Amino acid sequence: MSKGLLIDITKCIGCRSCEAACKAQNKLPENNDPDLTATTYTKVMERGDRFVRKMCMHCQNPTCVSVCPVGALQKTNYGPVVYDESKCMGCRYCMAACPFQVPRYEWSSAFPRVRKCIMCKDRVAQGLQTACAEACPVGATTFGERDDLIHEAQDRIRQEPGKYVNQIYGFSEVGGTGVLFITDVPFEKLGFRTDLLKEPYPMLTWNVLSKIPNFVGVGATLLFGIWWITSRREEVKKEEAEALSKKDKH
Ligand code: SF4
Ligand code: SF4
Ligand code: SF4
Repeated sequence: MSKGLLIDITKCIGCRSCEAACKAQNKLPENNDPDLTATTYTKVMERGDRFVRKMCMHCQNPTCVSVCPVGALQKTNYGPVVYDESKCMGCRYCMAACPFQVPRYEWSSAFPRVRKCIMCKDRVAQGLQTACAEACPVGATTFGERDDLIHEAQDRIRQEPGKYVNQIYGFSEVGGTGVLFITDVPFEKLGFRTDLLKEPYPMLTWNVLSKIPNFVGVGATLLFGIWWITSRREEVKKEEAEALSKKDKH
């Protein structure tokens, strides 16, 4: 069962309690960065008269995980996409590959790490909700099983069809995300990417990579390098599994 968040833009009052709770939970400085940074894992962006939270989408099949050559980013079976700094070699492929341009880097640190929301993995593993969902005073951010959140979102849209846009953002974008949004203003007007594929990006085909803006300037050599490393890793996994199964048969 995979956990997630449902963010209802019609309910958000822009109080930024989620930002503050995230900072406290992750022991981050109380600065007021205008966007995601290495010390801001979620940001409430003003979009006209609406407020839109920005954060890691905790993709069901995350591209950041698929391009990481050393497995520093992992999708857990309970939902959060987590990061192991002891494995990270600082290549920053994850930053280039994320279709939502989420991961940030500690450029000014002597031992830089990649930073992003990790869906309060320790709280969630203990059966608690995320700090941001707990802090939201109006239920604009709610935490739960992704499937339940989808049903809840569908119910809200069904009950007030004149109010809501008939779409759950994250239901199928890039193969589905753990963070879901519903709204009364079309997503494209709120700065959401609406040109994303409805299937997972980790296939890493040229067609897919061309949809990732940061890759455009990265160049073919690096793309080929990423593709080679990722395919090789899959091959090694397969070879290991085959060797194991042969061993079991003997
Ligand atoms: S939004 Fe980006 S960083 Fe977050 S899981 Fe998806 S690909 Fe990874
Ligand atoms: S889930 Fe946790 S880490 Fe992510 S934005 Fe919310 S409080 Fe921050
Ligand atoms: S705490 Fe809730 S209402 Fe306040 S900004 Fe965050 S999502 Fe919006």
